[in-house]
Amino acid sequence: MFYTSTRDNSIKLTASEAVLKGLSDDGGLFVPSEIPQLTKSLREISEMSYQETAYTVMKDFLFDYTEDELRNCIERAYDSKFDTEEIAPLVEAEGTYYLELFHGKTIAFKDMALSILPHLLTTAARKNKSDKEIVILTATSGDTGKAALAGFAGVPGTRIIVFYPKGGVSKVQELQMITQKESNTKVIGVKGNFDDCQSKVKELFGDAELKEKMAEAGFQFSSANSINIGRLVPQIAYYVYAYGKLLKEDRIKDGEKINICVPTGNFGNILAAFYAKNMGLPVNKLICASNDNKVLFDFFKDGVYDKNREFILTDSPSMDILISSNLERLIYLSTGCDAAKNKKLMESLKTKGIYDIKDSFAKVKDQFVGEFADWNDCSGKIKSLYEETGYVIDTHTAVAAASYDKYVKATGDYTKTVIASTASPFKFARSVMKAIDPAYEKEDDFKLIDVLSKTANVEIPNAINEIRTSPVVHDTVCEIADMKKLVMENIGIE
Ligand SMILES: *Cc1c(COP(=O)(O)O)cnc(C)c1O
Repeated sequence: MFYTSTRDNSIKLTASEAVLKGLSDDGGLFVPSEIPQLTKSLREISEMSYQETAYTVMKDFLFDYTEDELRNCIERAYDSKFDTEEIAPLVEAEGTYYLELFHGKTIAFKDMALSILPHLLTTAARKNKSDKEIVILTATSGDTGKAALAGFAGVPGTRIIVFYPKGGVSKVQELQMITQKESNTKVIGVKGNFDDCQSKVKELFGDAELKEKMAEAGFQFSSANSINIGRLVPQIAYYVYAYGKLLKEDRIKDGEKINICVPTGNFGNILAAFYAKNMGLPVNKLICASNDNKVLFDFFKDGVYDKNREFILTDSPSMDILISSNLERLIYLSTGCDAAKNKKLMESLKTKGIYDIKDSFAKVKDQFVGEFADWNDCSGKIKSLYEETGYVIDTHTAVAAASYDKYVKATGDYTKTVIASTASPFKFARSVMKAIDPAYEKEDDFKLIDVLSKTANVEIPNAINEIRTSPVVHDTVCEIADMKKLVMENIGIE
């Protein structure tokens, strides 16, 4: 087994090399040469702790990490930073299972991978005898930024620079980031949308001149974005864990297929579910749920990916994305792992904003269903779920839940379903409360957090209490064109 690039099949790397590099020099993403199969039975998995499951799932993907190294990374990641020993609890409501992925430090699912990535990266650096300081460069639609900052803050041998679209993230998301204290962190607002930030960051990764200057000064880039396989692989674990939980609690029979519904933006989380399925987890359909930026919904209809459309700011900002980077890994598979063909498609995306895989679409189509939900669907779902069960979900999870309802209505498929619950409602309190009662729209975010706590009968998470009093330490705002300059300034090269 090895890792190759989706744009150049001559590349052959170990897992730790791929984690360390993040993105291939040709602009492609690293993919495993094969998808390992689960080495434990579902019954055995159902008796495992989260940490044990994570080890079982990750070990064959991260094949050159020793058992000690990997177990050590897992132990340091999934500890008391999480507010529950289960790490990812499964909550039943209206016969559907919500897999709560928001019990980490920054109360969004990005913590699941970003708690472990710094450890995987620093271990990879040690294994590959790299003496360079790792510079993490990240574009965020809101949640990645804070989760990455929290993961890397104070980690020796690393520094992190986060770019976010100024005005394109929630107030809580912005405050979480700009109050980050540690001196190896830098947060910068950009006048542009998430796709602008992400495209520029990708460009900087591929900037040969910049890379050379950095190397001379003793630095190397790596990526904390979901394009890094060090983020993708840990995300596979919770789907396997969820299945084990359902089995242990007798909710399903051994081997029974489940559906998995994921609120999707960059296609990272659902791709992890796809890997879980292809490792042998019994999964029927992967339901890919989009918000109004429904480029993926359209893609799964006919195999045409077309980003030429208006970018819509929604109440699920972490999914406001028109270029779903991780989809490239699926496209690559659909071409029969033909890197040259995939490269052409991605070039077409870059120059024309469109590509089509109609001729090879059949290879991937059967495993996925696209759905989407607008604000009307989502707010209706948040409100009805709350009124029927008392359970309050966030706006991203609501995209999945409302999409799932539409799917069931359209297909009559009552297969037991796990919905990825990707953020705590406290992170998006204003939107959540206005769904329950539009009168709340005008209230202050922090006041609504108190109201939400009473409404949902859930304690306010630490992550929220912290930002109420923390001073703002990052106030830089820049144009897209200045991002490179600011990176160079931050690491002290001109
Ligand atoms: C990032 C994020 C998503 C989208 O996940 P992808 O892996 O980018 O598809 C959904 N919900 C929340 C809350 C997120 O932070």
